[in-house]
Amino acid sequence: MSHMRKVDVAVVGSGPAGHVAAIQMAKLGLSCVLIGPEHSGEDGRTTALLGSSVPYLQSLGLWDAIAAEGQALRVMRLIDDTGRLFKAPTTEFDSSEIELDAFGYNIDNNRLVATLHAALEVQDPEHLIQDKQFARSVRLEHDEARIEMEDGSIWQARLAIAADGRKSIVRDAAGIEMRKWTYPQTALVVNLHHPSTPHNNASTEFHTKTGPFTLVPYRDGVTSSLVCVVSDDDAERLKGMSRQALALELEQRAHSIYGAFSVISDPQTFPLSGMIAKSFYGPRSVLIAESAHAFPPIGAQGLNLTLRDIATLADVIRENGIEDPGAEEVVQTYGHSRRSDIWSRTAGVHMLNMSLISALPLGQGARTAGLALANMVPSLRKLTMKAGLDAPTKIGWSADAMRKSEKHS
Ligand SMILES: Cc1cc2nc3c(=O)[nH]c(=O)nc-3n(C[C@H](O)[C@H](O)[C@H](O)COP(=O)(O)OP(=O)(O)OC[C@H]3O[C@@H](n4cnc5c(N)ncnc54)[C@H](O)[C@@H]3O)c2cc1C
Repeated sequence: MSHMRKVDVAVVGSGPAGHVAAIQMAKLGLSCVLIGPEHSGEDGRTTALLGSSVPYLQSLGLWDAIAAEGQALRVMRLIDDTGRLFKAPTTEFDSSEIELDAFGYNIDNNRLVATLHAALEVQDPEHLIQDKQFARSVRLEHDEARIEMEDGSIWQARLAIAADGRKSIVRDAAGIEMRKWTYPQTALVVNLHHPSTPHNNASTEFHTKTGPFTLVPYRDGVTSSLVCVVSDDDAERLKGMSRQALALELEQRAHSIYGAFSVISDPQTFPLSGMIAKSFYGPRSVLIAESAHAFPPIGAQGLNLTLRDIATLADVIRENGIEDPGAEEVVQTYGHSRRSDIWSRTAGVHMLNMSLISALPLGQGARTAGLALANMVPSLRKLTMKAGLDAPTKIGWSADAMRKSEKHS
């Protein structure tokens, strides 16, 4: 007979989302297994953690170690580089305008996962177990989730959390369909050194006809991570260039705002697509992160939205009592509570992206008018900044919590 073990919660998928979800479940006092292989450490991306992500990670005792690895984002600069008729004004948002020390922090993904992993290792092993292999299959029954591992062993859990990414096998076991779409764009990510000009904790997003070209503070005052969204062919061309030629071309695209670049990492490419689950729960299961929602890397939304998935799940489990974290009422309440935030972020990112690449003047005009108004009307300006950071329900909460935490630090 195969080896069977029981836990309250099985988190399937060991990326950043899975790590945070597992730590959160253990902190609720539930026994939990985190299923999935060790991180490769080869992710060239960085993640800007914004808004309510900061106080939420603080509440889990994770924030100080994460922030120590990142760079504060204090200014967000948007520059219209589309060369189109309706040109938006250059817009600069400063976190001090909404009484925050910073909008958030930008962290190297490898360091983020390593930091989360170190935090996971020191959790009570009674509550948090790691099983560093792939799950082979998942069965969701009325009273339990059964997860069969590659070695044939089985985990029985009252709740399975799908953090296993776009091709989630937990989602497939729940029979949840996805809406999927693609964009004619690829994101090229690479890290750059610009010794002559410091970034001064500002991120700069050029809006181009093929998508955003965004420089975000990276490891110190004179390095930035770049997300450059271009056509698929252009991304391949840039990726194939020598480091010297690439540095020169990227400097031109950045209009030399930081002077000369040198390329300090191998460029990686990510074809852009979108997907959203038709439901965010199934029997004995909930979907979080990219098993539930994925969209282009515009406005740094993906993992921030995921952290709100996990925070909401924790709230619902707390409210219902921890005896049965996978009860129908829990998974249903979670699924319904996440709808508006996930749908509105997905639609917002889609519309912003389309307003850049579409040849139709309507979308371009709306983006231009929106930024012009945000420049002129102070209350709208503050609202735009807060809306960029969080879900509407979290805006007041996150700003207050961030301010409180700054006072105490
Ligand atoms: C270029 C780019 C820039 C981005 N920038 C930002 C940003 O600034 N801010 C932001 O909030 N978001 C950003 N995002 C989005 C963010 O990177 C993703 O939301 C995040 O990496 C997803 O993490 P995850 O843990 O959900 O998924 P993944 O990292 O994909 O993790 C899924 C995990 O599941 C594991 N797995 C899969 N199948 C199984 C199985 N059968 N059994 C066990 N384990 C399994 C995999 O091995 C993997 O470890 C960006 C995305 C891109 C492409």
